Amino acid sequence: MTTTIIIGGGVIGLSTAYHLARKRAGRIILFNKGPIGDGSSSRAAGIITGLLWTEVGVQVRKLSVQRFHELSEELEGYKFQNVGCLNLFDPPSWPERQALLPLYDRLGVKYEILDADEMRRRWPQLNPREDWIGLYDAQGGYSEPDEYIPALTRACRALGVDIRENEQVADLVLRGGRAIGVRTASGVIEADAVLSTIYSWSNRFFERLGIPLPVKAFVHQRYVTKPLAVPPQFPAVNANPLGGYIRPASGGAMLLGVETADREEFRVPSLDFQMSTLRAPAGLREKAVADFSEYAPMLVDAAWHDERVGLLTFSMDGEPIMGAVGQIPGFYTALAFHSGGFAYNPAAGYLLAEIIADGKASIDVSSFSPDRFDPADVVAYLATTVPQSAAVRRRH
Ligand SMILES: Cc1cc2nc3c(=O)[nH]c(=O)nc-3n(C[C@H](O)[C@H](O)[C@H](O)COP(=O)(O)OP(=O)(O)OC[C@H]3O[C@@H](n4cnc5c(N)ncnc54)[C@H](O)[C@@H]3O)c2cc1C
Repeated sequence: MTTTIIIGGGVIGLSTAYHLARKRAGRIILFNKGPIGDGSSSRAAGIITGLLWTEVGVQVRKLSVQRFHELSEELEGYKFQNVGCLNLFDPPSWPERQALLPLYDRLGVKYEILDADEMRRRWPQLNPREDWIGLYDAQGGYSEPDEYIPALTRACRALGVDIRENEQVADLVLRGGRAIGVRTASGVIEADAVLSTIYSWSNRFFERLGIPLPVKAFVHQRYVTKPLAVPPQFPAVNANPLGGYIRPASGGAMLLGVETADREEFRVPSLDFQMSTLRAPAGLREKAVADFSEYAPMLVDAAWHDERVGLLTFSMDGEPIMGAVGQIPGFYTALAFHSGGFAYNPAAGYLLAEIIADGKASIDVSSFSPDRFDPADVVAYLATTVPQSAAVRRRH
């Protein structure tokens, strides 16, 4: 029987474990250095849209959206909130997106273009500026990480995945240049395949292997109100002109996420780094509420209940990194899902399970290959320090 080891128990690692287990692909062991979900996954806003910006991204997201709908039936205690996803643009930012509409048409991804009057008619709680354009994805919506992650974890365990929490992988174990397992505090555990899904910790892990990755991490935060007097009745909104996003949240509350474009990249200091040590800048929530007050007036008097701060990781070209690591046979990785790793996870897990178990994915994701970067470009990129606004930034 083959053994696959997955390092990392965020949504990408869990989803791969789940899809491998459904394929009955042998023994699956998943290590997470803390409790399951203690990385970015439990901090995500969980907003999901299929309207991305590259051919492969759109194809993979189409599969993700389909799987989210199916997972609502497969996972006990989880429901995909199919409220739709509205992507807002102002006149300067719209042409870049408008140019992608033929791609959506060709790949059969549905959308509607809405003017401000139509958006106000559909969602009277929201007040877009007169010249804003809405690109509406009726198939999108959101998932509550606090529901989804436990439901996926339970489903993995029920399918026999051996989930080992609070066990950090210190190293990949190689024999003759091939990955043959991992080393943890309890010793060497052998495997036929090893997948690393440790997201913002990846640079520290890969540099030990002599394979630098062109990936940068940025602090990102989102807040949840207490239940509002009138529950939100609108889609998840990527409010690009406002530098943030909103969505309804469980129990009649509302979530607000905000970018800090000027904040410099965050260098994860070591494999021992704890994401819980990150902090949002003082006064940021108040500023975001002021910025959103005209568009979403119900935020102005809202009382607040929750703040979560985590990391987003971006690759040098802005696209995810996913697949076999060419230099080390038997070793695979998946990371750098920008601000959209939650939305990517069902398809990423599905396709990674195919790559590991069958040697080939049903969607050609070679443009996401970890091997696609020129080593000299990687070194130059890592030598720079950039603010978030200079990373390839697109939302969800
Ligand atoms: C505030 C915020 C809002 C976001 N909103 C959205 C959104 O609306 N939509 C969306 O699609 N995405 C969103 N994202 C992005 C999304 O959260 C990430 O892209 C996604 O969660 C990445 O999942 P992952 O499994 O790759 O990483 P993680 O969830 O970070 O998981 C990595 C895991 O690896 C473990 N680990 C690390 N090192 C080791 C080791 N050596 N041994 C064992 N385990 C190890 C960690 O403990 C961690 O659990 C948001 C992120 C943040 C921070």
